[in-house]
Amino acid sequence: MKKVVIISMICLIVLGGILIFVYSKEDKSSKQKTPPKPPETVVQNNQQSSNTKVPAHNYSSDKLKVVAEPDSISVLVNKHNKLPETFNPKDLVFPKVPYLKRATTEKRQLRKEAAIQLEKMFAAAKKDNVYLTGVSGYRSYETQKILFNYYVKRDGYEKARTYSALPGTSEHETGLSIDVTGKDGTCAAEDCFGKKPEAKWIADNAHKFGYIIRYPHGKQAITGYKYEPWHIRYVGVHLATEIKQKGITLEEYYGLH
Ligand SMILES: [Zn+2]
Repeated sequence: MKKVVIISMICLIVLGGILIFVYSKEDKSSKQKTPPKPPETVVQNNQQSSNTKVPAHNYSSDKLKVVAEPDSISVLVNKHNKLPETFNPKDLVFPKVPYLKRATTEKRQLRKEAAIQLEKMFAAAKKDNVYLTGVSGYRSYETQKILFNYYVKRDGYEKARTYSALPGTSEHETGLSIDVTGKDGTCAAEDCFGKKPEAKWIADNAHKFGYIIRYPHGKQAITGYKYEPWHIRYVGVHLATEIKQKGITLEEYYGLH
């Protein structure tokens, strides 16, 4: 009888110990902070729920010039020249090139002429054993607005303006610009991409397919953007070749600097 009591007590103690251990672990994990969501996830959530949480900003007070020919292949869109709010490229298509998995459906689009030339460029790179991947192409005014408002809410209007484009002023809204990277997706839209062989190939060859590096090194005072070796813009072969040969920017081509 004594034996039974002792065994029962041991069992109870062991069981109690296990329960205490399990509960303390659960408690710990519930106290752990959830990792911050990347901006795009948050943005998409906002889009799905409602826009009421996004602070409104009166963009008309920014006195930007609205471009006259938003459909033009050589349109100049920058921090001073914006696309009309109602602008939607009519000839968006999906270029048959590889994209990073995380690229949304909208981002995989470009205007038709730019898309055809992008396919040719990626194929030519492949022949040189350079494997390019699309990161982000077209972005609608609405998406840019949601993105910008997210940054305003997080960091305030003035700070947001230093790193994010006002709705209507992102070149991605033209459907003529795309961010590209290498096969493995490392350094996508990051400074370290500039040191990759893919960046060198693009710098040497993009103009042959009508693309320019829109924000070259050392031209920040002119373009308003720091060097972005990954952001290419379609302007047509003739114009791209001239810009490349002269070592100028689109702003300088238009005599704005
Ligand atoms: Zn870009």
